[in-house]
Parts: sequence; C-alpha cells; structure tokens
Amino acid sequence: MADTTLDTRLDGVVGGRTAKALERGFGLRTVGDLVWHLPRRYSERGELTPLLGLPVGEHVTVLAQVLDVRSRQMQRGGKLLEARITDGVGSLQLTFFNQAWRANELVAGARGIFAGKVSEYRGQLQLQHPDYELFEKHRDPSETEGLTPEASEMLDQAAALAYSERPVPIYPATSQLPSWTIGHAVALALDTLKAAGGIWDTLPFELRESEGVLDLEQALELVHRPAKRGDWQRARDSLRFREAFELQLALLDRRQRAHRLPGTARARVAEGLLAEFDRGLPFELTGEQAEAGEAIASEIADIRPMHRLLQGEVGSGKTVVALRAMLQVAEDSGQSALLAPTEVLAAQHFRSVVETLGPALTEQLHPVLLTSKMPVAERRRSLLALASGQARIAIGTHALLSEGVTFFDLGLIVVDEQHRFGVEQREALRLKGTNPHVLAMTATPIPRTVALTVFGDLETTFIRRVPPGRQGITTFAVPVHERPKWAERAWLRALEEVAAGRQVYVVCPAISASKREDGDAEFDPALADSEGSGAAAPPLASVEQTMAELGERADYAGIRVAALTGAMKSDEKDRVMRAFSAGEIDVLVATTVIEVGVNVPNASTMIVRDAERFGVSQLHQLRGRVGRGELPGLCLLLTNAEQGSVARERVEAVAETSDGFDLAERDLELRREGDILGTAQSGGRSTLRLLRVTEHGELIEHARELAAYLLRRDPLLESAPLLAQQLAEEEKQRNLDNLAKS
Ligand code: ADP
Ligand code: MG
Repeated sequence: MADTTLDTRLDGVVGGRTAKALERGFGLRTVGDLVWHLPRRYSERGELTPLLGLPVGEHVTVLAQVLDVRSRQMQRGGKLLEARITDGVGSLQLTFFNQAWRANELVAGARGIFAGKVSEYRGQLQLQHPDYELFEKHRDPSETEGLTPEASEMLDQAAALAYSERPVPIYPATSQLPSWTIGHAVALALDTLKAAGGIWDTLPFELRESEGVLDLEQALELVHRPAKRGDWQRARDSLRFREAFELQLALLDRRQRAHRLPGTARARVAEGLLAEFDRGLPFELTGEQAEAGEAIASEIADIRPMHRLLQGEVGSGKTVVALRAMLQVAEDSGQSALLAPTEVLAAQHFRSVVETLGPALTEQLHPVLLTSKMPVAERRRSLLALASGQARIAIGTHALLSEGVTFFDLGLIVVDEQHRFGVEQREALRLKGTNPHVLAMTATPIPRTVALTVFGDLETTFIRRVPPGRQGITTFAVPVHERPKWAERAWLRALEEVAAGRQVYVVCPAISASKREDGDAEFDPALADSEGSGAAAPPLASVEQTMAELGERADYAGIRVAALTGAMKSDEKDRVMRAFSAGEIDVLVATTVIEVGVNVPNASTMIVRDAERFGVSQLHQLRGRVGRGELPGLCLLLTNAEQGSVARERVEAVAETSDGFDLAERDLELRREGDILGTAQSGGRSTLRLLRVTEHGELIEHARELAAYLLRRDPLLESAPLLAQQLAEEEKQRNLDNLAKS
C-alpha cells in the first residue's frame, strides 16, 4: 500500500472485520482516526494491576501473572480449566470450558494482560473465557543463532530488561475489541504509513525546534509503542502542543479570513436614527456601554465584517448596546437579526425592543418576531416583511435559521446568549446575508482560556459593571435535610415579600415527576449541565409538585401562584409571562424557561429547589432575574446535596461568589473534565484528545501567541504550505458541514 496516508480508509489496512469493529466501537474510519485513538493509560510490565476490589459486572483489563492452573472433569461432562492469576496480593480466577489446550500457554509464572467481565462465584472473583495476551515471545530466536552461549545469555538478559521496561499501552476497549487488538491494529497502521513514506508533519520545523516538540511520526510512534516510561510522556506533551497550536491557528486564521471577505460598511450618521434613539433613552449609558458601542460602531462602519463577542454580567445592559448597533445598520436600510435561545426570551426581547424604540421608531423600523410556534398567518407576515426589507429588525429563535427565511439585506447578526448556540448556527444565519457583521453576546462569564478555545475567532469586549442604582443580590445555600427550619423559613420569607408588594420566582429542575424541561424543541436542554446522577437518585422537585404543595398551604391561600414551563403552549407561556410582568401573579413556579434575560424589576426573591441539579453558571444566570431594580434581591438555594460533596460545593460557591467571572473560574476548578466546550466547541478537529481547557490554560495561551506570531509574519502561511493546506481542508469540510445543516 504505497499510497497509504492518514486519510486512507481503515479496511484496506487492518482488514475488514477489525475496521468494522473499530468503526462500530469508536467511530474510527481512517488511518488518521486510528493513530489518534490514544491509549488511556499505560501499565508497566513489572507492575501488576491490583486485583483486590475489582468491580463486579465491569469489563476490566489487568496486567497479572499466572499463579497456577488446574483442569477438572465436570460432573455433567466437559472439562473445566481453571487458572489463577495474581498481582502478588489478590487473585482472580480464569475459567475456560473445554479448552484444555490453553494449559500449554497459561503456565505458572507467565505474565500478560487479561481482559473480561468480572463476575463472582462462591466469593471468588473470576473472568469467564477472558481474552488474554501473554508477554513471552519477546525475542526472535534467530538473533542468537551462531553465538556463544555466554553471548546469547547476555543478549537474552538485555532483551529481557528492555522488554520489562517497555510500558504496555491500555486503550479504551470494548468487549469485541480488547486493548491489544487495538494495539495491533495501530501498530499495523503505523508500519504501513512508514512503509508508504512516513507521516508528513505539518508543523513548521523551526517551531518544532524552538518548542522542543517531537516530529509527528515520532510522537505517534512513542505514544503507541513506547520503549520506556518517559517516551509516552514526551509524546503526549508533543501531541497536546499540536492540538493547542492547530486549534488556535485555525481560529485565528478563520478570523483573519473572515476579515478579508468584503461585507457592507454601514456609515455612522451624526443626526439620524441612533441620535433620535439616544435622545429618547430614559437613562445614561454607562462608561462601558458607551465604550463597547464605540468599538462596535466603528467596526460596523467598516467594510470588513465585525466578529465581536460582548461579554457582560446578567443585567449589565447588553441589549441596548446591540439595539444601538442595529440602528446604525437600519440607517443604511440594512436589516438586523437577533437570535435568542428560547421562545420566552425572544418574545421578551421583542416586547422590550418595541418599548425601548418608542412608537415613532417602531413604526419606521417595523421589528418582527419569528418563532416556530407562531400562528401561520402571523409568521407569514413576518417572513414577507423580512423578504421585502420593510422590517429592519427581526427577533427570533432557531426559526430564523430555517430555509424559508430570507432577508432583503441582512447587515447585522446579534446572537444573544451565544454559549447556547453552536458555531454552525451563527454560520447558518450568516449565510443569509453577504458577510454580515456579527455581534455575539453572552452573560455567562467565560474564563479566558475557555473563551480562547470556544470563541477564539471572535474579538471580545467586556461589560463588567451593571448600571448604577442596582441593589445587588444576596444568596444563601439552604441545606433542606440538615436545616428543615431554614427551608420552611424560605417559604415564609417569600410570603413576606409578596406582602410587601413584590414578586417571587420558584425554580424547579423538573416539570413533573416524569417530565424534565426538555419538551420544548427550541429549548436547549441546558439541564444536561447539571451532573448526571445515579439511577437511585430521589425524584427531582417539580413544578407540578411545588404547585400542589403551595396549594395545600393555608398561608398561601390568598396568593396568586402560577406555573411556567417549556411544556406549555407558546401563547399560554406568553400570557403567563405578561401577567407576571404586569404584577398580576405573585409567585411564579417555573423551570429554567425563565433562565436567561427575563426582566421583571419588581421580582425580588428567588427560591431554587434542588439547586445542586443546576450548573454553576446556570444558577448564576437564574439569580440574575432578581435584584434588577431598586429592590435588593434575595436568592435561596435549597439543596439536598450532602455536605462536602462536589455538588454541595458548587451550590456553596454560587452563594459565596457574586462576581460572575470569579465564579466561572471556581466552576472550572470544580469540574474535572472539559465538558465545558459542549456544542460550542469550534475550530480544528471536531474533538480534543489531550487538551483540556480546565487544565492546560497556560499551554493554550502560549499556543495562541505562537499562532498569532506566525500569522503576523506570514498571513498566508507560505512558509508552511502543509499547514496551510491542512487548514484549508478543515475549513472546506466545515463549510460543507454548515451547508448541509442550513
Ligand atoms: P443583559 O445584559 O442581561 O441583557 P439587559 O440589556 O436586559 O441586560 O438590561 C437590563 C436592564 O437594565 C434593562 O431593563 C435595561 O433597560 C436597563 N439598563 C441598561 N442600561 C442601563 C443604564 N445605562 N442605566 C440604567 N439602566 C440600564
Ligand atoms: Mg440579555
């Protein structure tokens, strides 16, 4: 196979059966996929895997030594071979039926790796019919041919030593594909690649030199076939560097390329719509709002499309900044589209835009709402107004992305709560115009390294302070089981607020005992954010149950309580939300449908039930619903999480930290794995293998600098043609994916 490359399909290299199993088990299709399927850990041949306490019912791979072997006749016929393997302390029984010949291989003292499902029989842990591979034939006998016995012995010893130092890679395996079968397939792939001329390294040589990074072929060789422990560590470091660098280069390159595509400049006009709007604003812009507005205004006035991320605390007033940008575009007869993650939020944005614009500007700009649950006639009116260019502002949900939506002249895209969307969705909307300007907004503070990874193709502006006059929020964690009196106090406190003319939110993680908040197709199931729990977890507090509980309380008899969930019809949701805004509902029992952006300044208190079931940033967002006006906010996080558990720590972190950016950093520390990227992950390869934004912040920053430096010196990457080609291919693939999705 002289032409084998990383793109070659696996079946021609490792055989059809193994290829099929690799695809089914791990989605591996090409040689490149396989050589990037990295060992999960390494065992040392000299070190045996502890056998005590192996989990019954699980598939394990252990490194052990054969202790003894017995064969016996079964009463009902057939022969049973029993071998015991040991780690020197514990032992594990291997059983084989009618496979007496295995006694020739499984001799006392032999070492190897054994894999199978752990079961228990009469108090003894065992593996029935395990797969195994023994470490034996470590030297080719032909090597010693013609040597003196002494020389041969010396060679034997040297080989044995080298062999005993060689770590054993343990791959993520399935029952069909034991670790060593994967190892053999990888070895075959590596050897075939080498025979076909080797693996081309796309990284510039000087960069590898200066960073001390191993050549790609060598790194892959050592990560899969290390000769000693240091090998795989160096190899992993090198591969991780590559991931970080390639990701940052892809992001920066994309940003640079987006800049080169000509968009439409929307000039700033001194006495126009924007000036009229500013005059009507009931408040002064804060310094940060004005600054952000300034940066955005000059970018929109440029022919190069803007790609900016506006990060600001909940309630920091991002919407008005976005609306001002829309006015600049509208001045030039251009259209703007505001994409919101939920129907509730889209509807609220629509109302507040109409209100903030005032009657005259509203008539002139004709803002329209577009969601998939709107009545058909209304929806058609919106679509027409957008296609004709009459409507200069569109506000909507994912419905904006659908095929039937066309714009006359889409000049600006505003994505609210950007973290709830993937890059593809931003792209799908972008394709409805000619390189429109993009303003992404997020109220979920993102630690810098995450921002670099997830939004690395955007420039970032911060609004760190909320407008003056806000009273802020006080948050308490209330452990329900430990302090039942405190929990009861929470419900009384809510009553006191209502008596004082204020309103209260109660937030539950579920709609009913059997239904979580995922019924709404337009609702991003952010609940997945809360850590998955075991099957034995108690039922979640639900809206239904809370409504029933409050209904039974005598002290809540005169209180106007209503429910709001994603399972309700959209006009019903809208009606409830309006009633709550108008002060006609005292206590709103809801799911996370009220999470983002909902703005009712008279709401002063929030009670969150089973708070540990929400993510940290989600809790921070939720509590941002209160304390928005002149009233101080109070947030009570009811929890059943045990003291000292990570779940409890997360709830307590939210109670202790009111600064969203600090909280985001603490959240990052509390999370172990990089599940932060989620659907928002962008850039280079579709998944990161070794790079963890939670752990490798410094590396990411460093890689960013190196990538930026390279692009500054050589924007077209003429000095690194292979790298340029790789980037172009990835970008092409991504565009194809986007086209397929839009
Ligand atoms: P977010 O950043 O969470 O989207 P919003 O844009 O919804 O915040 O703003 C929250 C509230 O603050 C709105 O009622 C808005 O009218 C108000 N607001 C925005 N800017 C100012 C300001 N400079 N001074 C006073 N109130 C402001
Ligand atoms: Mg908002």
